[in-house]
Amino acid sequence: MFDPIVQQPWLLYSLLALLGLIIGSFLNVVIYRYPLVLLHSWRQECTALLADAAGANNSATGASADANEKAADSPPPGIVWPASHCPKCKAGIRPWHNLPLLGFLLLRGKCRDCGAAISWRYPLVELLTAAMTVIIVWQFGLGWFSALWIVASYLLIVMTMIDLDHQLLPDPLTYSLLWLGLLGSASGITAVPPVDAIIGAASGYLLLWGFYHLFRLLTGKHGMGYGDFKLLAALAALLGWDMLPALILVASITGAVIGTLWLLIKRRDRQTQIPFGPFLALAGWTVLLFGSELQSIYF
Ligand SMILES: [Zn+2]
Repeated sequence: MFDPIVQQPWLLYSLLALLGLIIGSFLNVVIYRYPLVLLHSWRQECTALLADAAGANNSATGASADANEKAADSPPPGIVWPASHCPKCKAGIRPWHNLPLLGFLLLRGKCRDCGAAISWRYPLVELLTAAMTVIIVWQFGLGWFSALWIVASYLLIVMTMIDLDHQLLPDPLTYSLLWLGLLGSASGITAVPPVDAIIGAASGYLLLWGFYHLFRLLTGKHGMGYGDFKLLAALAALLGWDMLPALILVASITGAVIGTLWLLIKRRDRQTQIPFGPFLALAGWTVLLFGSELQSIYF
């Protein structure tokens, strides 16, 4: 059944691109809604903790009043339900406008009901998802290795966008990527020996953890978040510990260049925090595609 698809590369790549666009459209929903779900559950936990503390010593009235106010927050939407709506006017989005990419073009980037601009990042995430899906199969063929890296890429796209929006790399996402790396290695899918994957995970984490505490001792500032350590650990589990120098090199060079440009364009001062996760993700893809070339350059 799959023979004609595999024998016609253009058919295979078109189908993969279409699949990527559809999944990208779902990733957009996850990127927008998952942090809201997380923030809501954290707020509820804090409320419960503050209420406990207030019960324990009656002096903390201010905190408990504040906590009660926050508890009245409406629950966040689920990830899949309710259906998509315009964030500004809340009007439901018609099914044919919900099509990936095509919907954006049909609407010419504006909400049909209130005219609010729809962000370019929605079609951009869809295009990126489609591009990554096609590039990975084009480079590595059809097989388990490509399947693993396509899933990893989807996780990286979601983490990149959530980190840009909220300066946050949620544990369930970084840990999923870490398990993908460890199990991919254990099952022989990634060609990274399990010992290399485990050493990669531990040393990737420790390396950034060390940077972080050194930087904090020297400057008194927090340069990164713990999510960054976990993301590098996951990437090193996927690619092997010997790719750590290449990962760090690409992430810090692109981070420094793009970060500086960003500060200049946005005219922010140097105190502005720039998330590191997107550059780690970029480094992960770069090393996946050009790892051996990069290694030969610095050796
Ligand atoms: Zn609207």
